[in-house]
Order: sequence, then C-alpha cells, then structure tokens
Amino acid sequence: MRKAIIAGNWKMNKTHSEAVEFVSAIKNSIPASSEVETVVCAPALFLKEMNDASSGSDVNVGAQTMHFEDNGAFTGEISPAALADLNIPYVIIGHSERREMFNETNESVNQKLHAAFRHGITPIMCCGETLEERQSNETESVVREQIEKGLAGLSADQVKKTVVAYEPIWAIGTGKSSSAEDANETCGTVRSVIEELYDTDTAEAVRIQYGGSVKPENIDGYLKKEHIDGALVGGASLKTDAFVQLVEAGKHE
Ligand code: PGA
Repeated sequence: MRKAIIAGNWKMNKTHSEAVEFVSAIKNSIPASSEVETVVCAPALFLKEMNDASSGSDVNVGAQTMHFEDNGAFTGEISPAALADLNIPYVIIGHSERREMFNETNESVNQKLHAAFRHGITPIMCCGETLEERQSNETESVVREQIEKGLAGLSADQVKKTVVAYEPIWAIGTGKSSSAEDANETCGTVRSVIEELYDTDTAEAVRIQYGGSVKPENIDGYLKKEHIDGALVGGASLKTDAFVQLVEAGKHE
C-alpha cells in the first residue's frame, strides 16, 4: 500500500512573513504523517524558517529546485549540500517551468536526482507533455524518455524512494485539468516504464503524483485512481484552507 503524498508548489509566491504564517496556521490541522505525507515546496529564501516553524508537526518543507554540484561558481544557484545542512527533506526536480524557462534537460534532471540521493533528500521528479505533443499522440514517448533518462543510473532502492509527478504542461496553471482517466493512464505508463527498467517491486513502490490544476473540488477523482498516489499542487496550495482540504483528501486515498 503506497502512502499518499500531497505537495504544494508555491512557485515564486509569498514573502517570508507570509510563508512562516502559513506554516503556523496549518501545522495543527494537518493529518498525521502516518496517514498522508504533506510537503510544502517554497522559495529557498524561506526554507529555514519554515522548517523551524513546522518542527514537531507533520508538515514537511521542500525546495523547488537545486543544482547538482555541491558548490562552485554557479551564481544564484542552490546547493544540495546547503539544503541537506538545513534538513530540507524534499526537492522538486525538473518542473516544466524549469525545463522551459531555465534550460533544464533530462540530463541535468538526472544529475540532480543523483545529487539529491547523495544528500539524503527525496526528489519529486516532474515529467509531462506539451499540448502539441499530446495532440500528436506523443505523450507516451515523451514521458517514457523523461523517465528513462531522468532515472538513469539510480539503484532500485533509490527509485523506490523517488516521487514522480506527472504534470501535463497544458494543465498547469490553466484551470484545464486532465481527466482522471487520462492522468491515470499516463501514470500507469510511468509505472510500466519503471517496471521494464527495474522490476515489479520497484514499480509498485514508487509513488506517482498527478499535477495540473488540482484543487479541493477535483482531487478525489485523481486519488481514487489506481496509479495516482498524490498530487503536486500549484495555485490551490497557496491558501491555507484549500491546502488543508487537499491534504485531508489524501487521507482517504
Ligand atoms: P497548478 O500548478 O496546480 O497551479 O496547475 C501545478 C504545478 O505547477 O506543479
């Protein structure tokens, strides 16, 4: 039985004081981590204080990206060693916005996954197709390549700990969410690619989230599906009430 994981992706939103207020406001309303895993991925500037504010609760804090090198001449980048030193347990890797606007490739995603495991940070690896790719029936081949290249060289144990977020790009921030059936089908593709690359045990263990215009009103439909084990949520994760409702929904998966 895979435990649901609900993760908020704030993107470049909120200020430091709003971030800390958010954590303080939700921390006592979040279901126990034995029922559902809760993650809030915030701008790096706020991570330390959010982690401090959430201590003793079941809220986990995550970064939205990081570099694959531990240190060096990479102006403005975030070191995985620095995240580990702050005890940040999760990091989003290869979000489509990073792929589209900041030149992330399947190869750099792979390097970052290795870096995350070197530092004991759980990666949430994103994959997903553009509208054009979907319309030309390339969803499966695009996602297959992202998974094959993204996971290259990882051990089965590392893959079991990886969280994959399937996010069709056309559904992100658009209000046009994928149907639960289509999302489940592609999450199933992710699982079968992992089975081909590793084995059934690994494929059954890996948790796969759906992301793209998820909100309290539609999350149940996704979570009921066989291959969907949680959600990566942008817009709807910014409000405390909605976020708590999303995590509550994860309890019933
Ligand atoms: P959205 O974003 O929920 O606002 O569509 C999802 C994401 O980018 O992870």
